This record gives sequence, C-alpha cells and structure tokens, in this order.
Amino acid sequence: MRGLLVGRMQPVHDGHLDVIKRIFEDVNEVIIGVGSAQLSHKTKDPFTAGERVMMLSKALTENGIPASKYYIIPIEDVSCNSIWVAHVKMLTPPFTTVYSGNPLVQRLFEESGHPVKVPPLFNRKIYSGTEVRRRMLKNEDWQSLVPKSVVKVIDEINGVSRLQNLGYKELDE
Ligand code: ATP
Ligand code: MG
Repeated sequence: MRGLLVGRMQPVHDGHLDVIKRIFEDVNEVIIGVGSAQLSHKTKDPFTAGERVMMLSKALTENGIPASKYYIIPIEDVSCNSIWVAHVKMLTPPFTTVYSGNPLVQRLFEESGHPVKVPPLFNRKIYSGTEVRRRMLKNEDWQSLVPKSVVKVIDEINGVSRLQNLGYKELDE
C-alpha cells in the first residue's frame, strides 16, 4: 500500500518528519509531493523544489528511512482546482490513502474517491513552516524546529540570508 502526503515544505521541519513516520505505521511506501514546485525566492516560498527535495531526502536518511520506501515528486500548481487531482496523479506512482491537514486538498481527493486521513498535528504552534520562516527572518532559534540535516542544507545554500534579503526587499516595495 502507498500513501500520499502533499506539502510545500518551505522548509521541511520536524512536523513533516512526525507525520511521515505516522504514515509509515499505515502503509509501506510513502509518496511525498512537494507542492507549489514552481515557486522560490519569495518570503512565503523561499526554497526551490530541488532544494526542498534535497532537504527531504537527507532528513529521511537521517531518520533511518531507506530510499526504496519513498518517492519525492515536485508538483507545480495548476490554475484550476478541478483538475488538480488528475495533475497530481499524472506525476505520482499509484496511491490509495491521502494524508493532509489542508481542507481543500482533503475535499478534492475525497471527491475523486480517495480515502483521506487527517493526521494529528504535532505541536503546531512551533512546528510550522510559517514559524520557521518567521524565526529565520528575526534571527531567532529556527534550528531546533528542523532536522539537523535540514540545517546543513539551509546553511549550504545560504537560505537564511536569502530569506532576510527577500524580507527587506518586500518591506521597501
Ligand atoms: P506553512 O506554514 O508554510 O503553510 P506547514 O508547516 O503548514 O507550512 P506544509 O508543507 O504546508 O507545512 O504542510 C503539509 C502537511 O504537513 C500538512 O497538511 C500537514 O498534514 C503536515 N504537517 C505540517 N506541520 C505538521 C505538524 N506540526 N504536525 C503534523 N503534521 C504536520
Ligand atoms: Mg501549510
């Protein structure tokens, strides 16, 4: 059995790892769709799809999950919600259950006949992409919210300085 999780992963954080581990309690292979793949260099979406793929594969390896157990697939947005599920299916291996905390994603997959499970949120106040990006912008401790391997990737690509630059630019505009 294969399950699907879709998220923007801007960036990957411990909440994502928690939910992926929970999904592995139900199914033996997980497909991770990296959503809004076309976006990067924005304060809400600072990292490229390739950078996010790298964060995920290194974080899964750090957590002892072998590469044969998952597929990481970048998924660009489409302008019509009504064809989004077909678009996702065009890009991914076959799956049954969809795991999502997003009400629109839940609705679209339910309407297309897929069982949808809503995983419980793990300490959502701090384990959220929004909170990680806020801390990066303010030079606060974001490192404790993401896997160590993700800290390394973000350092390698100078992610914090990228985000801070974007943040200052948007304030000027
Ligand atoms: P942002 O704040 O930028 O929207 P996010 O933390 O919501 O980031 P997404 O990539 O949008 O991250 O989340 C994708 C999916 O990951 C969610 O629909 C949810 O199922 C799961 N998820 C995110 N954070 C947590 C968490 N703290 N605990 C459990 N699951 C989570
Ligand atoms: Mg979100």
